[in-house]
Amino acid sequence: MPAVSVLKTPSYDPSVLARAVDSHFAFLNLDSLIEPSMKIVIKPNLIMRRAPEEGVTTHPALVAAIVKKLRSLGCQNILIAESGGGPYTEPLLRSLYKGCGYTAMAEETGVPLNYGTGSREVEGEGRITRRFTVIDPIAEADLVINVCKLKTHGMTMMSAAVKNLFGAVPGLMKPELHMRYPEKEEFCRMILDLNAAIPNVISFVDAVVGLEGDGPTGGTPKEVGLTLCSADRYALDLVNAAVLGMKPAEIIMLRQSIEDGLCPADLSQITLLGDVPADALCAAGPFQPPRSKQTDFTSHFPAFLRPTVKKVTKLIQPKPVIRKKDCIGCGKCAESCPAHTIRIENRIAVIDRTACIHCFCCHEMCPKQAIDIKRLSVFRL
Ligand code: SF4
Ligand code: SF4
Repeated sequence: MPAVSVLKTPSYDPSVLARAVDSHFAFLNLDSLIEPSMKIVIKPNLIMRRAPEEGVTTHPALVAAIVKKLRSLGCQNILIAESGGGPYTEPLLRSLYKGCGYTAMAEETGVPLNYGTGSREVEGEGRITRRFTVIDPIAEADLVINVCKLKTHGMTMMSAAVKNLFGAVPGLMKPELHMRYPEKEEFCRMILDLNAAIPNVISFVDAVVGLEGDGPTGGTPKEVGLTLCSADRYALDLVNAAVLGMKPAEIIMLRQSIEDGLCPADLSQITLLGDVPADALCAAGPFQPPRSKQTDFTSHFPAFLRPTVKKVTKLIQPKPVIRKKDCIGCGKCAESCPAHTIRIENRIAVIDRTACIHCFCCHEMCPKQAIDIKRLSVFRL
């Protein structure tokens, strides 16, 4: 049975985190999976430049605790690497690391941050996509330590261990994948395929403070007081769903991973270690779901009706709408739009909806949360 450890971790105090990381290693016998000679990449969730206390990004103090633990095992070849939501360029990486508190943490621990912008293809046994371009550090790593933030997500319902590896795809290739797979079922399957192409992964979850509501960037911090860990990211996400108070069927990617036999169907098939029993996983209370769920209605209809339903759905699809009073004209939405359908006029973003593919990258990337997802009230879920 796959094993997942869940530990009460009430704060980001370095001594609290050091104890938690030590205990995760001990419960899961992680030392046996790590060789000092390994090239190790730590991949946090730094979707955008946001301060650690905003609950949007992985807290650097948890990453620092993991670095210190790896060093105590003799590992010296450790690199922190991420590709956030915008272009994958050195100046933007510098800004991202600084704004998320990683530059200061790297100076304190001496761990290097990746500023290279190279990428290459990796292959897996995916069902709809077998080849992916990923950033060089992840392609070259012997081991990826995936340190995600536990969040609700407007498109995938949950952003946790499996979803966090979407950040392995460099910069603006992410919106391209949104464009290739505009429907949620296919998009989630593509993320599972990407995971299959990145085999050697140990995942940690920063749920000391999670993010509820309009994640992955517009939600509200929620104190949960937990860290989680597993060498099995699919089983870990089943436990993460329980922490959110959600059923696996509500999270497409999790449901698909159960259907594909990657993930057990329920918690009774997971060895739960640590100090939090299964019935207390959601002790902090269920996470508020996203207000603007991006729903693909077609899956509710028989196959023969879906083409017609798709046409109707297009007409009633949720739409990105700029809240002009909050827009500062920064252009981040235009930069991330794979359909190139946003322009800045008089310092305000303007969307040409005729070309919009409803990927909502703009909604995710707006630093002012000035883009709402509007749908007809009769269809609001
Ligand atoms: S909508 Fe948001 S991302 Fe786009 S220009 Fe306005 S503030 Fe910037
Ligand atoms: S306008 Fe927004 S939702 Fe539409 S294609 Fe561009 S990024 Fe996607």
